[in-house]
Amino acid sequence: MSIFSHSAYDKHEQVAFYQDAKSGLKAIIAVHNTNLGPSLGGCRMWPYADDGEALNDVLRLSRGMTYKSAMAGLKLGGGKSVIIGDPRKEKTPELLRAMGEFINTLGGRYITAEDSGTSVADMSVIGETTEYVSGLFAGSEYGGDPSPSTAYGVFVGLKAAVEHRWGKTDLTGLKVSIQGVGNVGFRLGKLLKDAGAELFVTDIFQDNIDRAVIELGAIAVTAEEIFDLDVDLFAPCAMGAILNDDTISRLKVGAVAGAANNQLAEERHAAALREKGILYAPDYVINAGGIIDVYYQQKGDYDANEVRAHIEEIGNTMKEVFVRADETGETTAHVADRIAEERFGHHSVTGSSENKSGTVAA
Ligand code: NAD
Repeated sequence: MSIFSHSAYDKHEQVAFYQDAKSGLKAIIAVHNTNLGPSLGGCRMWPYADDGEALNDVLRLSRGMTYKSAMAGLKLGGGKSVIIGDPRKEKTPELLRAMGEFINTLGGRYITAEDSGTSVADMSVIGETTEYVSGLFAGSEYGGDPSPSTAYGVFVGLKAAVEHRWGKTDLTGLKVSIQGVGNVGFRLGKLLKDAGAELFVTDIFQDNIDRAVIELGAIAVTAEEIFDLDVDLFAPCAMGAILNDDTISRLKVGAVAGAANNQLAEERHAAALREKGILYAPDYVINAGGIIDVYYQQKGDYDANEVRAHIEEIGNTMKEVFVRADETGETTAHVADRIAEERFGHHSVTGSSENKSGTVAA
């Protein structure tokens, strides 16, 4: 297995491997870039099929965090960690404490937080052996959970998209489809409903759909119908790669703005959206509310008003991306990558930054 010639390797500063026989921990930490500050990114626990899959994931995700934090105007770099194992069967306090010891070996160059397969409670256990952990600040508005801040940031970014696409700031009567009404999607739906939007929702869990119908007055559709609706805006809030050849050909919307990570199946799908006249809000720009929240939790001295004001900056960043894309004729995804690279001072050795754009994954 190669590292420096790995397809997902992009001038990462450090990749560290660790195993602890006693607890069974096998983990990788990737620090992509620390030009703007220590790297911060979640700790993902997943039953990866093999080490190669875990390495690929941590390389891609850590790079994505550099772009996300740079675009969010945070003094943070990009990093991520992965624990190889099934979180439902293999996650023990011993293993999490060993992970904390691993994080300590990087001396603060990497700060962890919750991610798929880990929780706020797990961060407390990791915090027994390392100080380089975030997302557990009980004083934060939601006890460490970044989802409400993510939803608020998406709402702000979505409004910027509506203003750019339709020249209006009033969301009354705007028809919005939401794929996935979980932690972020449901809260986004609430903000939209309060702003007067009409909602169409789908989920794979019936109770989540029922909650959105009852509490938000949303219209329920099937997981397949969500792509064919005659609505104004599509908000993907479930999983990645949802903007692909099949779905883009079916979408009738004027804009896509949602929380899901890695929405574009491939880089070329940003151009496909543009050709159809669909304004795309780049995912890692619009969903940065969570990392902004986590940053303030880690920094200490958490002030909810300050956090909110910072999240609202997502609207201005989004406008800058849309305007530059109009001016240059590039896709919004490519423009976002270029602005982020300007901010963290990226100089690609493997090719032009264009070659790498659209592969951001956070
Ligand atoms: P979640 O698991 O709480 O919600 C996702 C919802 O999508 C669930 O209700 C799930 O049942 C539903 N879903 C899954 N597959 C679906 C499908 N095929 N069709 C319809 N619904 C489906 O997760 P979340 O925390 O709300 O995150 C949503 C997305 O936003 C994820 O992509 C996540 O990576 C991204 N994101 C979340 C945060 C955060 O702070 N939680 C931050 C940044 C990005």
